[in-house]
Amino acid sequence: MIRENLELIRAEIPSGVTLVAVSKTKPAHMLQEAYDAGQRIFGENKVQELVDKFGELPEDIEWHMIGHLQSNKVKYIAPFVSLIHAVDSLKLLREINKQAKKNDRIINCLLQFHIAEEESKFGLSFDDGREILESNEFVEMENVSVVGVMGMATFTSDQEQVRDEFRTLENYFNVLKSHYFKFNDSFEHISMGMSGDYKLAIEEGSNMVRIGSSIFGSR
Ligand SMILES: *Cc1c(COP(=O)(O)O)cnc(C)c1O
Repeated sequence: MIRENLELIRAEIPSGVTLVAVSKTKPAHMLQEAYDAGQRIFGENKVQELVDKFGELPEDIEWHMIGHLQSNKVKYIAPFVSLIHAVDSLKLLREINKQAKKNDRIINCLLQFHIAEEESKFGLSFDDGREILESNEFVEMENVSVVGVMGMATFTSDQEQVRDEFRTLENYFNVLKSHYFKFNDSFEHISMGMSGDYKLAIEEGSNMVRIGSSIFGSR
């Protein structure tokens, strides 16, 4: 079913939208099946699992860390990760910069903003985000590149609420773009939308969706 699911989703999303196949908790052979169906971008939310799967699967996969990341674990993924979605502090960015430097790389990151109603979800407030981008420390970091924003909507059946939250993130992106990244084309990603809400997210400006259960089945 994985190939069929991927084909259905690909047929639905516009060409400018990047599909991240969220493979957390799924065994390597299922990722291989998606790979054989042409998928090259995979997202995981646990460092150990990401490292294990990186070791087992083809080298041309782009691995995205989509989950909350603790600073003390950055070193394990710094050699190979291609995008870190959930940067929610200057402290974490500092550590990513340090580990990227050790690996002689520039690591792409998204700032995760808190757009949901629920308190439990991680993420920066808009002001926190601006503070990071305006700090001298950030400006001097040479081994991280902030390439966009990420957010998760509230888990609710209220479509209008979800739509509003996605709009909020798109608005944050636009304001940050015009203030800090006007001449920087690499600040271009809005990572929002999962299996249950990606169509809405795309309508509201998402250009990167993170889809798990609709590809691999429920967890
Ligand atoms: C699990 C997860 C997803 C995918 O969720 P599905 O509902 O299975 O599509 C997307 N983003 C993050 C951050 C996740 O942890």
